[in-house]
Amino acid sequence: MPNMQMQKTPMPEQDPIARGHNFQEVALGYTAEMAVNEANRCLNCKNMPCVSGCPVGVKIPSFIDCIKKGEFAKAYSVIRETNSLPAICGRVCPQENQCEKHCVRGIKGESVAIGRLERFAADEGMRAQVAPPAIQENGKRVAVIGSGPAGLSCAGALRQKGYAVDVFEALHTPGGVLVYGIPEFRLPKALVEKEIDSLRAMGVNILVNRVVGRFATLDELLATYDAAFIGSGAGLPRFQGIPGENLGGVYSANEFLTRINLMKAYDFPNHLTPVRVGKRAAVIGGGNVAMDAARCALRMGAEEVTIVYRRGEAELPARAEEIHHAKEEGIRFRFLTNPTEILGGEDGYVRAMTCVEMELGEPDASGRRRPIARPGSEFTLPVDTVIVAIGNSPNPLIPQTTPALATQKWGGIVVEEGSLKTSVPRVYAGGDAVTGAATVILAMGAGKEAAEEIDKLLSEA
Ligand code: FAD
Ligand code: SF4
Repeated sequence: MPNMQMQKTPMPEQDPIARGHNFQEVALGYTAEMAVNEANRCLNCKNMPCVSGCPVGVKIPSFIDCIKKGEFAKAYSVIRETNSLPAICGRVCPQENQCEKHCVRGIKGESVAIGRLERFAADEGMRAQVAPPAIQENGKRVAVIGSGPAGLSCAGALRQKGYAVDVFEALHTPGGVLVYGIPEFRLPKALVEKEIDSLRAMGVNILVNRVVGRFATLDELLATYDAAFIGSGAGLPRFQGIPGENLGGVYSANEFLTRINLMKAYDFPNHLTPVRVGKRAAVIGGGNVAMDAARCALRMGAEEVTIVYRRGEAELPARAEEIHHAKEEGIRFRFLTNPTEILGGEDGYVRAMTCVEMELGEPDASGRRRPIARPGSEFTLPVDTVIVAIGNSPNPLIPQTTPALATQKWGGIVVEEGSLKTSVPRVYAGGDAVTGAATVILAMGAGKEAAEEIDKLLSEA
């Protein structure tokens, strides 16, 4: 008999006041008893609507069934058949808009907590150290550029099919946004390392400090590889273009989060990268990046952190859980507000921000209601740190050094729909480099799809 409890089994979490002062993980994970209780809420529906909501098609009812039976390592293996980074997806996927949105239990009550169960199975499976699958070499070589979720999932899928895979990563640590963007308290870096180690154990070769376009161009790589995949992400920060953005104390969210997460400024002076955070910080934007920047600013000692967002609460694009956690931790929100100028003091540092109130007009091209400034509503917000989190564009170096690679006006690499082929023969692309800033699982889905297409191309060759 299924467990007909209407609500999800609650997730144990660190206390909001305590966690505002540390970088340890906020959500603590299910115990085995909680996981089995939650798994028993699944009805094992024959038509599996949840699976259709998952961009990589995880066999959700099957892995949940293993948890019901206490077969946790098997649950992990079932997930790994289609998802090479389950401990990460279980933590950061926007499940409420994907698998859980389609769950039948969500019609009357809350959906099954699929993400939490995926996290549980992955953590258990990794503890049990499931052996890597046997691989039959096929003698062909593929270069993967970028080691974010797109590159890693492409590399894992190709390796499983027997390809020798070299991943070229520009930074000194692999993982992309998973290591330089998403903070430790949401996604522990030891766990990302473990996931990457399991790819290495399969034979994926990851080369760091290799900026493609500098140490070698894409064309040069193609001379020694049978095919290539570009998963170089969207790491070029955007600014509003308002006066004062060059003042001291103004950061792009990318720089701010990279200093804190990748360079571990939160553990200064054990790690030598500093980051200056004042008492009153403002974060401009409303996505996951803005929530992460705000919650990091709080943990770095800011006494008052305000998210300034030009639309309303209903339009916030961040994951529901991150918004909830940010509120619990005391982050303030100023909705329908847009900065127009950042004001500096004589010392060259930020002292305030001029803002204007907004109202929502007719829907724009994105389908969301367009924010319009209310005349005469200007006001000044005293702040000493400003973090700009209004979006990122694709990294431009590879297109700049590959004349035949077609890009969109806004910088995204052009790919053929359905095949992810670029304009350069034998080269495929996916993830944020193609779509602009999106999600981990969409990037992973693209990496996997590209691996299928590369396999098709090279099997016919
Ligand atoms: P990336 O993760 O950006 O990886 C690209 C990699 O390519 C990087 O490591 C980069 O160094 C490398 N690279 C770039 N150029 C070169 C080059 N020339 N040579 C070699 N290497 C190169 N999504 C979610 O689903 N849930 C979340 O909660 C979430 N939170 C986020 C929080 C933050 C702060 C940010 C920034 C993003 C967040 N996202 C979230 C979005 C998600 O992380 C991205 O959509 C995803 O990481 C994109 O994967 P990718 O592999 O395409 O690119
Ligand atoms: Fe289980 Fe929900 Fe998927 Fe049905 S839709 S199989 S109840 S997780």
